[in-house]
Amino acid sequence: MSTGTINVQTENIFPIIKKFLYSDHEIFLRELISNAMDATHKVKVLNGLGEFEDEVGQLQVEVKIDKDAGTLSIIDRGIGMTEEEINKYINQIAFSGAEEFVNKYKDQSEGIIGHFGLGFYSAFMVSSKVEIKTLSHKKGSKAVKWECDGSPSFEITEIEKKQRGTEIVLHIAEDSKEFLEESRISGILNKYCKFLPYPIFFGEEEVTIPAEKEGEEEKKEKKPKQINNPEPLWTKAPNTLEEEDYKKFYQELYPFSQEPLFQIHLNVDYPFNLTGVLYFPKIGNSVQVQKNKIQLYSNQVFITDNVEEIVPDFLTLLHGVIDSPDIPLNVSRSYLQSDSNVKKISNHIMKKVADKLDEIYKSDKDRFENIWDDLKVFMEYGMLSEEKFYDRAKKVYLTKDTEGNFKLLDEFVEETKELHKDKDDRQVILYTNDPETQYSYVQSATDKGYKVLVLDSPLTPHFVAQLEQKLENVSFARVDADAIENLIKKDEEIPSKLTDEQKEEVKKLFSDKLDQTYQVEVASRSEKDKAVLITQAEFVRRMNEQQQLGGNSFMGAMPDMYQLTVNANHPVLSKLMEAKTDAKKAKLTAQLLDLALLEKGMLKGEKLDEFINRSVELIK
Ligand code: ADP
Repeated sequence: MSTGTINVQTENIFPIIKKFLYSDHEIFLRELISNAMDATHKVKVLNGLGEFEDEVGQLQVEVKIDKDAGTLSIIDRGIGMTEEEINKYINQIAFSGAEEFVNKYKDQSEGIIGHFGLGFYSAFMVSSKVEIKTLSHKKGSKAVKWECDGSPSFEITEIEKKQRGTEIVLHIAEDSKEFLEESRISGILNKYCKFLPYPIFFGEEEVTIPAEKEGEEEKKEKKPKQINNPEPLWTKAPNTLEEEDYKKFYQELYPFSQEPLFQIHLNVDYPFNLTGVLYFPKIGNSVQVQKNKIQLYSNQVFITDNVEEIVPDFLTLLHGVIDSPDIPLNVSRSYLQSDSNVKKISNHIMKKVADKLDEIYKSDKDRFENIWDDLKVFMEYGMLSEEKFYDRAKKVYLTKDTEGNFKLLDEFVEETKELHKDKDDRQVILYTNDPETQYSYVQSATDKGYKVLVLDSPLTPHFVAQLEQKLENVSFARVDADAIENLIKKDEEIPSKLTDEQKEEVKKLFSDKLDQTYQVEVASRSEKDKAVLITQAEFVRRMNEQQQLGGNSFMGAMPDMYQLTVNANHPVLSKLMEAKTDAKKAKLTAQLLDLALLEKGMLKGEKLDEFINRSVELIK
């Protein structure tokens, strides 16, 4: 037996570390199992090099709870350690590393991604005593036991141990008894170890053994339960996988979820190492609900499902797994974004996403159109937030008009260049965010031969503003922003059928019935156009929409202003002028006004009731 003092300066490093990672105690298990995996993997590597003298045997890790003894054990069949190695790796390196770690990060525990790097030492977060029983693979090695009760002194004794490898025995501390519960350990294993590369066994499961002969009963037997899938899909070569495999894996990651649209298999080993599978979920028009489902792994060890600082925000709409040992884990989150590997990885993912969109568009336009409604919000989000992505994605950004025709944005702009040009040579692109409620406005535009796009994503107000900045000499106008002649002004003058005095009278008749939020105008329009039209200026509406979405908040909300345009040339206006009494004029004005409000979906409650009663009276 030998004793010694662990090589640390701070006597009370144990309580510090215990408090320091309070919220994240459970990661001790991930750390210890990672060590067991490493030691196991070394067996495989050495054997591959022909340098392993022992018999390899079954390479696996076992986790065991002994409630009576109050212990949790992690048992591997890895390379094991000799007494000298314990001295070197546990007594000196492991502990000094831990001290350095604590000193460096004690003020920012929340910010460190994954809390990786505490290693073996994290066992003391939950244990009052830790034992290492180990037998090295090296010929002639003696099995040893190291034990330490959390004070900086330890003890090493020789023991009897037949099987090569290491067993870590944690004597669970009084305040950490939860880690003796099977369900708690199962939960942690499922979270962090689900895809580790060697089989991990924990607990037992009942298996049914079919009858050997006819007439015999099938048997039920208890067997150790394997809790991981050592070969998750992203570690396999893409050309060995079928579409079905990807779908199955998606269900493994997110049980009971709707099938994704398609996926990208990431597989890079130079100049950084990155594997993974990213899925495009069906997001429809929602930006928030599906966010933050990407899981980050480091060599198949789960680290976190919060990848916000690792990939650009719009990519967090994707689902799936990224695995990269090149993402630094012992740095604060704010530092991550400036890390050069992280930047490269995030750019690579962005490029792959753009490539994939391009590929689907080019290889199968129909499919691209079919999934467009689930893609557009993602595309717009990316184009709004990342310049590089804008340049790539714009080439496959689709537009859909009210007749259901799809065109590339660039094509649409080109094709409507002449027709949609106003008298100042500016191209005005008309759109609706709701063809149903804006039906009559759409109709007025299409009657004149114009095309109207359906832009109904929640990001539209920001997106059209971006396009106006990017596209030369193009502006966007929602169809209900003004009368169509005003949205795309041409040089033609239509003579008015009303005299100037009559126009003044009409203006007064309507103004008297409206409050300050309405501006009344009497215009000479075609006889066929609406008699009275209510619109809301593009900039007022867009400003308010943008503000509701966030952004542009320095402006403050604009009051809801509307424009009421009376068509001087509509036959009904002549009729209004001919009315004999003021009462009759007032009644007709009210009726015309209500019809316009009704068309815009703004006639409600008492006003609607009045309108209905008045209409019945007019029929009588
Ligand atoms: P790290 O794993 O980051 O090197 P640890 O503190 O977790 O730091 O472990 C220190 C060293 O102890 C390891 O590098 C390894 O050499 C040795 N070690 C830890 N656990 C095992 C194990 N289960 N089997 C063999 N060696 C181990």
